[in-house]
Amino acid sequence: MNLSYQSTRGGETGLTASQAILKGLADDGGLFMPNEIPKLDVPLEAFAGYSYQETAYRVMRLFLTDFTEEELRGCIARAYDSKFDTEEIAPLTKADGAYYLELFHGRTIAFKDMALSILPHLMIVSARKNQVKNDIVILTATSGDTGKAALAGFADVPGTRIIVFYPKGGVSRVQELQMITQKGDNTAVVSIHGNFDDAQTGVKKIFGDRAFGKQLDDAGFQLSSANSINIGRLVPQIVYYVYAYAKLVENGEIRCGDEINITVPTGNFGNILAAYIAKQMGLPVKTLLCASNDNKVLYDFFRTGVYDRRRDFVLTSSPSMDILISSNLERLIYLSAGCDAAKNRELMAELSSKGAYTVTEEMRRFMGDFYGGFATEEENAAEIRKVYEDTGYVIDTHTGVASAVYRAYVAASGDATPTVIASTASPFKFSRSVMTAIAGGQGDVDEFAIVDRLSETANLAVPQAVEEIRRADIRHTRECEIADMESVVAEILGL
Ligand SMILES: *Cc1c(COP(=O)(O)O)cnc(C)c1O
Repeated sequence: MNLSYQSTRGGETGLTASQAILKGLADDGGLFMPNEIPKLDVPLEAFAGYSYQETAYRVMRLFLTDFTEEELRGCIARAYDSKFDTEEIAPLTKADGAYYLELFHGRTIAFKDMALSILPHLMIVSARKNQVKNDIVILTATSGDTGKAALAGFADVPGTRIIVFYPKGGVSRVQELQMITQKGDNTAVVSIHGNFDDAQTGVKKIFGDRAFGKQLDDAGFQLSSANSINIGRLVPQIVYYVYAYAKLVENGEIRCGDEINITVPTGNFGNILAAYIAKQMGLPVKTLLCASNDNKVLYDFFRTGVYDRRRDFVLTSSPSMDILISSNLERLIYLSAGCDAAKNRELMAELSSKGAYTVTEEMRRFMGDFYGGFATEEENAAEIRKVYEDTGYVIDTHTGVASAVYRAYVAASGDATPTVIASTASPFKFSRSVMTAIAGGQGDVDEFAIVDRLSETANLAVPQAVEEIRRADIRHTRECEIADMESVVAEILGL
C-alpha cells in the first residue's frame, strides 16, 4: 500500500514520501502528514530479537512507501554505523526507578543525530527518484543541537548546501563551538540577533517567499529543511521507541503487551510526537509525559486547551527546549481535528495573528494520552543532583527536566507503569550547568576545565565530539538581524 502525504493546511495533497522529504515544508506553510498512520506489521514479540537497524527498516518502510527495500536498507546501513559509539545505537540505562533511553551516542552527542544521520541519505535517494537537477539548500533554524547534527550530516554531501541560523547568546558554549568550527565547503553558520522562535519563523518565511523561490530556481537551487518540520526527521524518531520497548521485553523488565509510559523533554514537539505515532502504530504506551522547562507553553496548553505564546521567552539551562512556538504540535492539532485541514489552518492563522488559539473540547479529549508537566531551573538542578547522588548516573539538563517531571507525576498520581525517559543529550554538552547542579558554582573557569571535572565526576571519558572542539579553528563568524535572514541566504549562495 502506498501512503500519500498532504499538508496539514490543505494546500498540497498527493505527494509521495520522497517528495514530502524533498520539500520539507508545504508551500502553504503546513507540515506534511501521511493520509493514515500505518500499523506495525510484524508481531511485537519479533522486535525483541531485532537489531537497531532491522527495527529501523521494519518501522520506516511503513512510511517511506516509495523507497525500495534496497534503497531504504542502504540508507539505514550508512546512517547507523560506527558513527555511533555503541553497537546498540540507543542503549537503555536503568537508574533511580526509570529507564533512560540514551539517544546521544551519535556524532554530535544529542538526540538530533538519531534522525539527522539518516536524513541526508533519504534526501539523496529522494532527489534521485524525483530527477531533481537543482542543488538542495538545507535551511535550518536551531536551538542548539539540530544545527550541529545537520551540519555533520550534510557537510560535503554532493549536490547539497546547508545554512544554519542560531540565536546569538541562546545556546551553550559547547553547542556554539561545535557549530562555528564546522568544516565543509558547503556549510554556513549564522548567528541571529534574536531567539530561536525568531530564527524558526524567519526560516519559514523564506520558504513561503514565492519570488525568492523562483530566484533560487533560476540559479539552480531549491530549499529543503532539516528541522523536525520535515517528515524525514519524524519517521526515524519513531524507531527508537519501538526499539526501547523491545529491549524492555528482551531484558525481562516487562512482558510483551504490557503498557509503558514515555517521558520526553520537549521543545518543538517533534520527539514526543514520534512517541505518539509509535503508540498509534500499536506500541503499548499508556501516557505520554510532555516535559517543559520555564517556557511552559505546552504545559499550559495541555492543562487549559489554550495555546498562548504571548509571554516572555526565558533563557534556561536547557536551551534546546527554549521555544514558545512548538511547530510539530500542528501535526497533533491536525489529527485531533479529525484531519480537518481547514480547522487547523484557522487555528494556525490565529496563532500568527493573535499569538494564541483555543482547541475544542473534542480535540482536547483526543489528546487525552498526553500529560503536561514542567520543571523550574531549581527543580531541574535538584533532579540532576538526586539522580547522581542516588546512583552515580549523570544526566544532562534536558533529561533533567524530563526526569523531574516524571518523578513529580509519579508522586502525584501513584502511577507505577514502567517509564522510559528520553535522554536527549550527553551531559558533556552542558557541562557547566550539570556540574553546577551536582557540585555548586564552578567559578570563572574555562569551559574545558569544567568538561574535565565532569569527566572525573561522572567517571566517563570525554566524548570525541567535545575533544574535537577543544582546539579547532573557528570558521564561521557571520551575524545578522532577523529581518536580514533572506538576504544573507542570497549572499551565501552568490545570488
Ligand atoms: C531538540 C532537543 C529537545 C527537544 O526536542 P523536540 O523534538 O524539539 O521537542 C530536547 N532536548 C535536547 C537535548 C534537544 O536537542
